Amino acid sequence: MTKKRIYELAKELKITSKELMELMEEMGINVNSHMATIENEEAETIKELISGEIKDKGKKEKQSTNGTHKKKEEEKVIEVEDTIVVKDLADKIGITPAELITKLINLGIMANQNQSIDFDTASIIGEELGFKIIRSKSLEIKDEFNLDYEDDPEDLKPRPPVVTVMGHVDHGKTSLLDAIRETNVTEQEAGGITQHIGASVVNIKGKKIVFLDTPGHEAFTSMRARGAQVTDIAVLVVAADDGVMPQTVEAINHAKAANVPIIVAINKIDKPDASIDRIRQELVEYGLVPEEWGGDTVNVPVSALKKEGIDDLLEMILLVAEMQELKANPNRKAMGTVIEAQLDKGKGPVATVLVQKGTLKVGDVVVCGSTSGRIRAMFDDKGKNIKKAGPSIPVMILGLSEVPLSGDILYAVEDEKTARIYAERKKELEREEQLKITQKVSLDDLFEKI
Ligand code: GDP
Ligand code: MG
Repeated sequence: MTKKRIYELAKELKITSKELMELMEEMGINVNSHMATIENEEAETIKELISGEIKDKGKKEKQSTNGTHKKKEEEKVIEVEDTIVVKDLADKIGITPAELITKLINLGIMANQNQSIDFDTASIIGEELGFKIIRSKSLEIKDEFNLDYEDDPEDLKPRPPVVTVMGHVDHGKTSLLDAIRETNVTEQEAGGITQHIGASVVNIKGKKIVFLDTPGHEAFTSMRARGAQVTDIAVLVVAADDGVMPQTVEAINHAKAANVPIIVAINKIDKPDASIDRIRQELVEYGLVPEEWGGDTVNVPVSALKKEGIDDLLEMILLVAEMQELKANPNRKAMGTVIEAQLDKGKGPVATVLVQKGTLKVGDVVVCGSTSGRIRAMFDDKGKNIKKAGPSIPVMILGLSEVPLSGDILYAVEDEKTARIYAERKKELEREEQLKITQKVSLDDLFEKI
């Protein structure tokens, strides 16, 4: 091998890619990605220069921390991630591991110097010794996987809105989605078998709206927890004969937390005991003041059962979407989010991906969470074989080597080798993460045992 990737060199130097890139920038060498390659010879030179620098810096930092130790009392802050190895914490505090282990025993915790203790335990010990333990802000390793980048505003083109239907159980989420799909089925499609891929595209007045099938807020939040935000608009279904219920409130809170506009579908208006006004009244209590009453919450009375008000609802979605000016660059390597995935006996791993940026094509090499592959075939929400899919379009893909997780991000990359490096690194990190969790000696566990 004559070339080396930045990330490999960083690993050899035991620093993060980001730190390496910053140091290289100081040396006047600009690289824009940790996947960039440099000549081996150049790498050696950089290595020599930088290892010298790191040592110097280390020395300086040590001197200065020693200094602070004695002189300045107020600067005793230690950054800790979710867990920290006993030995490392002792080091940071400036005591021996044995001393720290004794302190831990006093707290009822048995841990050797190579074991990890959790953040809370570290804080208790730290505070006792006059240190302030704070959680470190960024896990730099995660940044390594951010293959995403901002597009030039000039390259952005309008894209369809992606809608999630939320609401209390039995208020009619599934029925509403079915009604939307049925009223929208064109004649030639009606005969075909619609394969469920977890999302559907609806055409209205020559415009598209994408609905995610995963109803309720669970899928919504679990995806958000993984850092994926796929929803542009939340349709909150409230049954007109039942009103705002606990899961309605949860849904409102989740949509608000995600900063997603809410359109209320007041459902079941066909029922004799339905009261639209009562629902509007209740919504006000949760800050959703209807437009009719001078607020800005769009609400549409519908009956999923009688298929009434469906077109009004779709039009309102388009209107709200228009105000959002949703855009993406279709002309770049694709980036998307897995909305569901499973192992198919015949086809192997299949995943439904919502393309968010760029255009995904058959033949593209992709990395998807900790798996990778080459797209062998793609199907749209109607089960039709397609060759490419642009922003906001959900597609079922074949060709991944393993089943990804919902919420995993997919990136189209240059070549298979790159895809594999990313996938393997991600897998390695997931393993480390898992190990940390199992090794973690938590205060709670111990108190339980005592
Ligand atoms: P989900 O739990 O929110 O998905 O609710 P479903 O769509 O499964 O609906 C729950 C029940 O309400 C079912 O028995 C539906 O037939 C019924 N339902 C849904 N929409 C309407 C409606 O507009 N009018 C009436 N009368 N019943 C409805
Ligand atoms: Mg349902």
